[in-house]
Amino acid sequence: MDLSFILNELGEERENYFNAISPPIIQTSNFAFKTVADLSKAFEDEMAGYLYSRGLNPTVEILRKKLAALDGAEDCLVFNSGAAAIFGGVLANVKSGDHIVSVKAPYTWAERMFDVVLPRFGVTTTYIDGTKISNWEQATGNNTTLYYLESPNSWDFALQPIKEVASSARSKGITTFIDNSYCTPIHQKPIEMGIDLAMQTATKYIGGHSDTLGGVLSGSQTMMKKIFDSEYLNIGSGIQPFNAWLLIRGLRTLPARLDRITKTSLEVLKFLKQHPKIESVIFPFDESFPQYQLARKQMTGACGLMTMVLKTKSRDEIVKFCEGLQHIMMAVSWGGHESLVIPKCAGIPVTDFDAINPEHRYVRLYVGLEEADYLIKDLDQALEKSIIN
Ligand SMILES: *Cc1c(COP(=O)(O)O)cnc(C)c1O
Repeated sequence: MDLSFILNELGEERENYFNAISPPIIQTSNFAFKTVADLSKAFEDEMAGYLYSRGLNPTVEILRKKLAALDGAEDCLVFNSGAAAIFGGVLANVKSGDHIVSVKAPYTWAERMFDVVLPRFGVTTTYIDGTKISNWEQATGNNTTLYYLESPNSWDFALQPIKEVASSARSKGITTFIDNSYCTPIHQKPIEMGIDLAMQTATKYIGGHSDTLGGVLSGSQTMMKKIFDSEYLNIGSGIQPFNAWLLIRGLRTLPARLDRITKTSLEVLKFLKQHPKIESVIFPFDESFPQYQLARKQMTGACGLMTMVLKTKSRDEIVKFCEGLQHIMMAVSWGGHESLVIPKCAGIPVTDFDAINPEHRYVRLYVGLEEADYLIKDLDQALEKSIIN
């Protein structure tokens, strides 16, 4: 299916709403029935028609069709956040006594679910270095039912060999789940590589304007039906019509924004790499990246996020650098119009800071839609005045 068709036409029945170019926001909680027979039918299968907006909603349906097609999946569900999509997708695929193998240091709220929530229900998790297929196989036990991937992750961009992990899992009857937020399906298509469940936060690139949250879970029709009938309706955290409308709007410009961010990212990367106050820059499509070959093989693009390792012995200098930026803001999240930084040391107790450990000197940069020169000038002045080496 053509990308342009997906973004501009798929799912949109304009003749049903005055041929409006932009779809209506059907801001309703419930839908009326003329006959008891119709109501009974709706009760039987809530995924087959409109009953109540915790299940299906017409504005959300447009978004679902587009996002499933973008993933090359049979179907998808759109949640009110990426965290809810992770929770729904994982919960639906484990039961008491089961074991999960996960990449180490997955997204914060995935980790919290593995460490705090799931153990209460007898589900355990083993974290591994996911870069080698042998590590997945070694950690697998008789009760392993789920492999949890995040490739690349959003700090050091470690990758997993997705095809190999997916095919190894399939041969053992293990379900595979991937957090594909860094790439979006524009730059990586995990479903086509054999992954069962592909998740992405829509809060980042799909929304693209830092004004809504959302999360997408894609997979087979059978899998989506299973999740819809229990976890999706039970968690009750489906995307709301207005937020779905914002995501449809975001999708229109997704490829254009990613193109622009790709171009700007490379210019910023080039500047940072030659800067004397930067020890190194971690970016999947840079030749110095340890898994560069694999990145080129399984991703068609990389952009936006990169991690600078500052050349300093002092936490204060990192603080000065982040606070000294005049245009680039300091905030969590990414994928919006605005460039952002976040220092790793903000999450490490001050007394534990260890300048020897490069990770403690990480500052993650998200390159947004600004002009490259504007960002480079800001980074340059902040580096100049903060780091004395
Ligand atoms: C932000 C993020 C999430 C969670 O998405 P929310 O929409 O914030 O709940 C999951 N994974 C990654 C890699 C993220 O960056």
